[in-house]
Order: sequence, then structure tokens, then C-alpha cells
Amino acid sequence: MSHTVKIDDVVKRYGDFVAVDHISCDIQQGEFFTLLGPSGCGKTTLLRMIAGFNSIEEGRILFDDKVINNIEAHKRDIGMVFQNYAIFPHMTVFDNVAYGLKARKVKKEEITPRVMEALKLVQIENLKDRKPSELSGGQQQRVALARAIVIRPSVLLMDEPLSNLDAKLRVQMRTIIRKLQKDLNITTIYVTHDQEEALAISDRIAILNKGKVMQIDSPEMIYKKPQNLFVAGFIGTSNFMDGKIVKMDDDMTAHIQLDAGMEFKMKLKKKAEGPIKMSVRPEQFIINDSSVYGLKGEISLYTFLGDFVNYEVKLPNGQIVEANEYTKDIDFVRKPGQKVSLTFDTEKISIFNASGTEVLS
Ligand code: ATP
Repeated sequence: MSHTVKIDDVVKRYGDFVAVDHISCDIQQGEFFTLLGPSGCGKTTLLRMIAGFNSIEEGRILFDDKVINNIEAHKRDIGMVFQNYAIFPHMTVFDNVAYGLKARKVKKEEITPRVMEALKLVQIENLKDRKPSELSGGQQQRVALARAIVIRPSVLLMDEPLSNLDAKLRVQMRTIIRKLQKDLNITTIYVTHDQEEALAISDRIAILNKGKVMQIDSPEMIYKKPQNLFVAGFIGTSNFMDGKIVKMDDDMTAHIQLDAGMEFKMKLKKKAEGPIKMSVRPEQFIINDSSVYGLKGEISLYTFLGDFVNYEVKLPNGQIVEANEYTKDIDFVRKPGQKVSLTFDTEKISIFNASGTEVLS
């Protein structure tokens, strides 16, 4: 039976440097939970704390209701997959996968069926007698995966497992991992810096920056409703625009003036005044004829990308924003020099406070 994992206000310091800065999150049983963030944000450090390779200085980590802070790594009932595979080069595939079972003193007659079952799950049972040097990168990673799941761990930890593979194989392997994880229903904590991979593979994602949690949410909510400017900028493409709230009605309708030259009204969740930042995804801009009320601009560049066209639009204040238009919705690609007006659905865009730390919409 797989565990829930509770990370409760944990801290890790290297000298004066705080690598993990009071992080808390609750991971559900059977959930695929991803730690995502830029290089150095602390994701590997946190994963190693869960694994038992790094000590926990402050806070607690619990598997179900049990605090595991002082339990040794090999007694935590976890399976682990690393970026560099960490498989033994002198052993066959079979022996690599059997290793963990032998170390756990599983009965001899159980070993072969369990190894074969694990190899079958990752679809490499035909390679069982090969040595790692006779395998491709993708096959080696499958061995690492089989070795992690054969012990039937309660928690599966993966640290950038796909980053040594080429782009096509990465996409194939992430589908295999996702299906396997759902079939086995193992609580999984996955570390990556690749936002697309995180969005594709996870039930929920924790976005980390400088050792702190920026947002924990489903991939869809992370993309559609970023809680701060960092998340809006880190995930997908965002156009950021400066502006200010010039008036706030009693029903929370804000009158917003953008520096790029447009005024509009929208309801906010919080009362606010003064400077704000607005974030609009390229696909949230609607490109209209220049006579329509909106942000006036001129197409400065287009990139035809098959299912959509990406435009750079120059606004009167010199700012360049990106706007996408789906090819199925248009007859002609707009050309540089064309004057346009950009509008947006105020329910879809995000408004942040001036420092970008808080979403107001
Ligand atoms: P990456 O994607 O580059 O692996 P990460 O988010 O996994 O990054 P960590 O490896 O957790 O980052 O490191 C977090 C920070 O802690 C980094 O700034 C790193 O330099 C620092 N750090 C990690 N291990 C040590 C150590 N043993 N001693 C000192 N500083 C360390």
C-alpha cells in the first residue's frame, strides 16, 4: 500500500545559504506530484531529504502518520530513479533488477517471477541477459525504473529521470512512466526543471524558487491561474504589462489604465490601488482590426508555426508583445506593418500587485 507524504515546514541550510526554506506540502496516496523550478531552486535537496540522503534540520516529513526524520534511507520503503540511471555496469539487466530483492532477503523462488514482472511492465523482458553497455539510454532508464518498482515501494522518487534522453524518447518515456505510475498506484514525487514535462506528467505540481514554494496546483491551474508573477513567467509564455488602478468601485470593479495606452474595467478579488502588473498569454490576445477599441499596435514580425501563427506586435510605448492566432480561424497571415488592435477576455488574464507577489484577479 502506498503512502501519503506530508512535508511540514522543512528547512535545509548549507552554511548561511538556505537551500530549502520552510517548505510544506501534502502529497496524496497514489498522486503523481512534481517539484518543478529553475536550476538551484532546491528541488533535488528536498527530494534527497524525503529519500533520507539529506538530514532534515527543521520541520518534519511524514509517511502516512509516521514521522520519518530519523529513519535511515534503506528503511524508508522508497524506490528511487536518478538522472544518471545508477545501474551496475558489471551486472546483467536481470541481476540489476534482482539486486534490491536479494538485499531485502526476498525468497529465492519469488525473485525470478518478480523480476520478470517488473521487466515486463517497462517492456524490456527480452533484454534481461544484456549488460548495461549493450543498451541504449532509453533502455538503461527502463532498467533503472524496473529496479525501483520491483521492490514494490510505498513511495517512488524520481530525480530528472529523462534528462539524458533525446527529445522524442523523453516524450515516449514520460508516457510509460505516467501509465506505470497510475497502474501501480504508487505515490510518486518527481523532480524536473522541464515545465512541459511537468505539465504533461503530473497530477499536481509544486513550483519552487530560491528554496520556497511559489504555487502548488494542478497543471491546468498553474497555467491558467498563476498565483504570482514568478509562476506566470516560468510556465509558458506571458506578456507582462505595467499599469495602474485609477479607481475602484464598491463592487470591486477596478478601472485599470495600461502604460501602453488603454483603459478597461474588470472585477478583482481584492481591493487594491496604484500600480499593478498584468499578464496575458499570447493565445489570450484577440487580434482585431485597428478600428476596434483596444491596445493599438503594429505587427512587427510573424512566425508561421503550422497550427498557429505567432506575431510580435509593437505597441505605442515601444513594448513588443506576442499574440497567437490559430490558422483554422484565419484566411490570411497578417504581415509586418499591419495596424491592429489587441483585446482580451478580462476573466482569463491575470492582474498582480506591483511587486508581483500576489494575484489580484
Ligand atoms: P538543479 O536543477 O540544477 O539540479 P536543484 O533545484 O535540484 O537544481 P539543488 O541541487 O537542490 O537544486 O541545490 C539547491 C541549492 O543548494 C543550490 O544553490 C546548490 O548550489 C546548493 N547546494 C546543494 N548541495 C550543496 C552542498 N552539498 N553544499 C553546499 N551547497 C549545496
